[in-house]
Amino acid sequence: MAKVYKHIETKLIHAGEPEPLISGAVSMPIFQSATFEYTGQTSYHDIKYVRLSNTPNHIALHQKLASLENAEAALVTASGMAAISTAILTVLSFGDHLLAQDCLYGGTHDFITKDFATFGISFDFIDGDDPDSWKRKLRSNTKAIYCETMTNPLLQVADLKAVVEFAKTHGLVSLIDNTFLSPINFRPPEWGFDLSLHSCTKYLNGHSDIGAGAVIGSADLIERIRHKLNHLGGSLDPHACFLLHRGMKTLAVRMKYQNESALQIAQFLEGHQAVEKVNYPGLESHPRHQRARDLFDGFSGMLSFRLKNGVDAAERFIENTTLPINAPSLGGIETLITRPATTSHSGLSPKDRQRLGISDSLIRLSVGIEATEDLIEDFEQALSA
Ligand code: PLP
Repeated sequence: MAKVYKHIETKLIHAGEPEPLISGAVSMPIFQSATFEYTGQTSYHDIKYVRLSNTPNHIALHQKLASLENAEAALVTASGMAAISTAILTVLSFGDHLLAQDCLYGGTHDFITKDFATFGISFDFIDGDDPDSWKRKLRSNTKAIYCETMTNPLLQVADLKAVVEFAKTHGLVSLIDNTFLSPINFRPPEWGFDLSLHSCTKYLNGHSDIGAGAVIGSADLIERIRHKLNHLGGSLDPHACFLLHRGMKTLAVRMKYQNESALQIAQFLEGHQAVEKVNYPGLESHPRHQRARDLFDGFSGMLSFRLKNGVDAAERFIENTTLPINAPSLGGIETLITRPATTSHSGLSPKDRQRLGISDSLIRLSVGIEATEDLIEDFEQALSA
């Protein structure tokens, strides 16, 4: 009987696994071979070669990732930025124009503002919360619209339904970076997005031990992006494929725990007198709490907050915590803490950061899978120190 995997927890374990199992191996073996015997392929892109993302390790991952977001196809890449840049450079060419949400991951923001000109691509930033203003920025050469499921580091939730509608009305390709939510909490293709992008370095792998990315979408678009990736060369090594594959199997248990833990920590911080503001869409105080509830199955393990006494207090707080590691990146099993102004968003000018509301004192937390009580106790002592 054909196997049907209804729930995402089951897909994480079984979708895309080789059938029959390779030599009975329960865990997908690593095919650490750069090239494979020629078997009469007629297209360059079909030759079995590691850069062409078609080894057994790539294929298994592609099938699993597509299945998680109920899409036709997927492609893994050497990093999240490889996924983002390759997808963008596939759907946009010389002379084209992009509409992009104004508050984005620093690397993506930098790519758009600093590299686009060399490719002859133009852009305009839009306020993700104000769909009425988007049409004014639309041009005859606009080809795509780009946003993030939850913005980094302010955890804003754009009007994602309006993004899809706007894209369909104006014939644009819609791209969304779904890194912060992971397929457990949000599956962009189900809502009509054309391309869902991930830094798999984060939740999908979950162990902070590889760099990887993914693009998920229609078979046609993914094949075009794969051809571009074949030329640009940002493919994922089979050993990293193996680590991503292994990490993904526990995504559901990790993510659900992290959702729950982050909510409790956000509630604790919000109730603390030393804290000025907490950004977490799971809190009722979040301006788009209801929108987040409508769209997401969970609110992720990411939150950010400001203390009352500015940068010095933020620095002291980070120094005084004992459990979180002071490091950029996110989505791993260990709790990470950072000041985005000095790490993920240091590439933005102070003026841009100020305009977007990313203050120097903002602290970003990626909640891991430690005991929630231990983390809260640690934050309590660090806040009163
Ligand atoms: N997208 C988001 C939301 C991120 O936070 C990051 C990295 O922090 C990236 C993309 C880039 O991913 P990578 O570092 O794997 O290239």
